[in-house]
Amino acid sequence: MLSQLPSLQKLVRHLQRLPYLASKNVFKVAGHLLASDAKVVEQLCNAIVEARAVIQPCCVCGNWTEKQALCTICASDKRDKTVICVVETWHELLAIENVGEFNGLYHVLGGALCPLEGVGPDQLTITALINRLSNDIKELIFATNPTPEGEATASYIWSKIPNKTMICSRLASGVPIGSSLEFMDRVTIGKAMQGRRPY
Ligand SMILES: [Zn+2]
Repeated sequence: MLSQLPSLQKLVRHLQRLPYLASKNVFKVAGHLLASDAKVVEQLCNAIVEARAVIQPCCVCGNWTEKQALCTICASDKRDKTVICVVETWHELLAIENVGEFNGLYHVLGGALCPLEGVGPDQLTITALINRLSNDIKELIFATNPTPEGEATASYIWSKIPNKTMICSRLASGVPIGSSLEFMDRVTIGKAMQGRRPY
C-alpha cells in the first residue's frame, strides 16, 4: 500500500526516526499533516528549521540559548551563582524552573550513564561540570532522575570531584523511584527541592 505512495512512505520513515513518538502514532501524525492546511504545515517546517538554526547549548551549563553564548539563567544577575542543580536533560531543567522555587544555576549533563547503551562519562558534560566547581560554589544539588542510571550518574560525579568543599544534596523522597522529573507535578518537585538531603 505505502509503496504506491512514495512521498508518504518517505514522511513516515522520517517520523519513525523521531524518539518519543510511539510507532502506532506515526501514521496518525502523517495523516494529520496531510489533512492540514498546506500553510500550517509550511509554518511548522519553518519553525523547526529556524529553531534548529538559532538555538544552541549554553557554553556554561548546556541549557538551550538563542543566538547568545550564555543562556538567560547563566547571564542573569538575579540568580544565586553559588548553587548548581545538576539535571540529566533540558526537560528536567524546565520542570524545576516551572516550579519557580529554585533560584540557582543548572548543569545539563545530556543524559545519564548507561554503559549498555554506550553512554559513558565522555558522552556527558561531566568534565565541564567538574571544571565549573570553584570555591564560589557552595552547594551542588543532584536532581538526576531516581532511576538506577540517574543514581549511578550522581555517585560517579561525586566520586570525581577532587575538592569536596561544597555541600552536596539529593532531591528528597517524594520523587517516585524509577520515574522522570519531567512527568511530575509542580508540588512534588517543589517539595523534593525543599526537602533535599545531604548526599
Ligand atoms: Zn547557561
